[in-house]
Amino acid sequence: MKAIAVTPGKPNSIHLREVPKPECNGAANGRDVVVKVLRVGVDGTDKEINAAEYGAAPAGDDFLILGHESFGQVETVGPNVTELKPGDYVVATVRRPGTSIYDQIGTNDMTTDDTYYERGINLRHGFLADYYVDDADFIVKVPKGLRRVGVLLEPTTVVEKGIAQAYEIQRRLRVWRPRKAAVMGSGTIGLLATLVLRLRGLDVTTFGLTPKPYLNSDLIEALDARYQSTQELSILDGARKYGPFDLIFEATGASPVVFDSIQALGKNGVLVLSSVTGGDRKICEVPADMINLHFVLGNKVMVGTVNANREYFEMGVRDMAHAEAEYPGWLERLLTHPVKGLENYSELLDKLTNARGAIKVFCEVAPIN
Ligand code: BGC
Ligand code: ZN
Repeated sequence: MKAIAVTPGKPNSIHLREVPKPECNGAANGRDVVVKVLRVGVDGTDKEINAAEYGAAPAGDDFLILGHESFGQVETVGPNVTELKPGDYVVATVRRPGTSIYDQIGTNDMTTDDTYYERGINLRHGFLADYYVDDADFIVKVPKGLRRVGVLLEPTTVVEKGIAQAYEIQRRLRVWRPRKAAVMGSGTIGLLATLVLRLRGLDVTTFGLTPKPYLNSDLIEALDARYQSTQELSILDGARKYGPFDLIFEATGASPVVFDSIQALGKNGVLVLSSVTGGDRKICEVPADMINLHFVLGNKVMVGTVNANREYFEMGVRDMAHAEAEYPGWLERLLTHPVKGLENYSELLDKLTNARGAIKVFCEVAPIN
């Protein structure tokens, strides 16, 4: 079968290769599931892996099959799989357990191990291939009615985890009635965070660079959220105008925005950081006393979030179904840039890097029936 792979450590090494088709081989106590891949989304992480800034090959291989945002259909199941059957639509989680106590209880997204295993990212092959096999424990069923948008589940889980963690943390307050939220960034994650917060009933202001109108600001306004370009109003002025923000979700990919977000957070508020910033950017002036004083006097919290375990994939499925009921057709509008066939891997990378107005670039590995 075909697969899109890179040679980790070698910049711009994306290529198509022939690899053996995986089979149910009894490796997972009869819990193997073979999945035919239908669609795979790509994001900034894939870009960094191809630039050799991130990612590693599985032991014994000198290549890494890319792709962690999967969507597929079950082909065969092992004898001990009762929860899935051939034909079911599914998405696989990304991280696989290591050794820490968190890994042992199914929360490998919270691992304290230094080495982490992520399919399509680090030490495990990904899903940009005709088929993959995995243990049913890591495969989540997606209802047939969500098949057109199922490829958005993995990015949605990143948002689900961050927001669920924020609510969990706020139980410290005994009573927390969040009313206003801000989302920093209007890319795929920012859009999905806006959606999930609107589904929770919050008044949401989403900040982005580009002045409106454009597709992303239209999508935000279609959720009855507010879009604000930071070229027209700074984050701090935006907070004065539309805040105080009880919850802020940071998803710009630009670490300096974190320091503005800290200052935009209201009393008793929670700031969720989700940008993975691999560079070494420094900023010269941070009003340290002021930031510290208000954080202390306002009993504020800041939390980092990465990855997502099965629980958040299940939450994501429920929210995507809720979204289709509340805002029909909205999710599909995010699927802006399809690329047909694994063999068109250069077009996939080109769209990921250069396409103007792209929200989600994804490979149509096989048609959805
Ligand atoms: C993926 C996460 C992963 C993170 C860090 C993101 O692009 O969606 O699943 O944990 O990268 O590797
Ligand atoms: Zn990702």
